[in-house]
Amino acid sequence: MDILKLVDPEIADAIEKETYRQQHKLEMIASENFTSKAVMEAQGSVLTNKYAEGYPGKRYYGGCEYVDIVENIARERAKKLFSAEHANVQPHSGSQANMGVYFAYLNYGDKVLGMNLAHGGHLTHGSPASISGKYYNFIPYGVSKETGYIDYDNMEALAHEHKPKMIVAGASAYPRIIDFERIVQIAKDVGAYVMVDMAHIAGLVAAGLHPNPVPICDFVTTTTHKTLRGPRGGIIFCKQEYAKAIDKAIFPGIQGGPLMHVIAAKAVCLKEASTDEFVEYQKQVVKNAKTLAGALSDKGYNLVSGGTDNHLILIDLRNKNLTGKEAEHLLEEVGITVNKNAVPFDTESPNVTSGIRVGTPALTSRGMKEAEMEKIAELMDEALTKGQDELVKIKISKAVAALCEQFPLYAK
Ligand code: PLP
Repeated sequence: MDILKLVDPEIADAIEKETYRQQHKLEMIASENFTSKAVMEAQGSVLTNKYAEGYPGKRYYGGCEYVDIVENIARERAKKLFSAEHANVQPHSGSQANMGVYFAYLNYGDKVLGMNLAHGGHLTHGSPASISGKYYNFIPYGVSKETGYIDYDNMEALAHEHKPKMIVAGASAYPRIIDFERIVQIAKDVGAYVMVDMAHIAGLVAAGLHPNPVPICDFVTTTTHKTLRGPRGGIIFCKQEYAKAIDKAIFPGIQGGPLMHVIAAKAVCLKEASTDEFVEYQKQVVKNAKTLAGALSDKGYNLVSGGTDNHLILIDLRNKNLTGKEAEHLLEEVGITVNKNAVPFDTESPNVTSGIRVGTPALTSRGMKEAEMEKIAELMDEALTKGQDELVKIKISKAVAALCEQFPLYAK
C-alpha cells in the first residue's frame, strides 16, 4: 500500500478502512468469504496488463504464451476438481456465466423454469428486473409452504405443463441439499436442458459435502468467490458436446478480453480447493452453520425449512415482530454484518423483507468453530431483542470486538 498511499491517498485510505472493517466485524453474509493472500497476490499481478481475446492457442493478440499457461492450468484444475468434461474460466462473474449459457442455448422468448427469487432463487434466474426475465419467458417454481423444501412435485407439474427448453436449478438463499438427480429426471421427461447454478455451494461440492451436479447436468455455472473462497468471478462447466457453443457465447458473444489476473487467481483458488485442508474447512463451515441454526432455533427463531444442510440459514423474523431491514440494522450497530432477505411467501417488500440470511463461510475462514457459533447466537439474540438499549449495544459490541481479536484476519 506504500505506493498507493503516495499516488492516491483517498483510495488508499478507503482500502485501509475497509480492511479494518473486515477485521473488526463478524462477517455473516452467506455469499462472502475471505480469500487467501496467494489468491490476492495473483489477482494483483501484472497479468492485469494483458489483452488475451480468444482462448489458449487461439488468441487475437500476440504475447499470450504465459497467459495461455495460466488459463490452461485454471481450466484443467477446474475440470479435475468438479469432474467436468469442459470448463470455461473466463466469465467475469456469476451473472455473466449464467448469461453465457442462456445466450448459447436459448432464444428470445423461450420458456425456462427457474427458482422464484422470493423463494431463494437468484435475479439471473428470471427476475423481471434482470435481462434473464426480460429476454426469456421464465416460469418460477419454489418451495413448499409447509416444509420450506423445494417442491419437486410442483416443479415436475410445471415442466409437463409448460414444456420449457431449460430448467435452471440452484439458489442464493436455500439452506437444504438440492436433489439434482430428481431435477435431471424431470428435465429428461420433457426434453429440457438442465443448468445448475451452484454459485453458493461450489466449495461444499468441491469438498464432497453436497452432491456434484457437474457429471449429470448439461451446464453448471458457479461463482468463485463464495464458499469456493477464490477471487470474484465465474466459471461454466459443460459436456464436451456443448463446449464450442459455450466458449463462443462467452467470447465473442457477451465478453471481450478475459481478466487474466482473475483467471490466475481462480487457478490458485482451485489448487487450494483440492487440498485436505479445504475439505476440513468446508466440513467446519457446515458444522458451524448447523450449530448456529440449533442455537438460534433454541432461542425461538424460526428457520426456513427448520434448519440447514449447508453454509447458510434463512431466519423468518415474523414471530419476533422484526422486519429484515430492522434486524440487519440492529446487528450492524453491534458489528455483526448480515443481509435482509425475503423469506418464502413474504408479505413485506424486497427492501424491507421479513427475514435475514446468515452464513458461516467467512467466520470459519477466520478459524471460528462451534463454541464461537453458540456465543454468536447469544450475541445476535441479545442485539435483536435488546439492541435498542445503548448500554446493551456497547456490551455486545465489546464482545464482538473481543471475538474478532481472538480470530485475527490475515494474521499469517
Ligand atoms: N448465482 C447465484 C446463485 C448467486 O447467489 C449469485 C450472487 O449472489 C450469482 C449467481 C451472481 O454472481 P455475481 O454477483 O458474481 O454476478
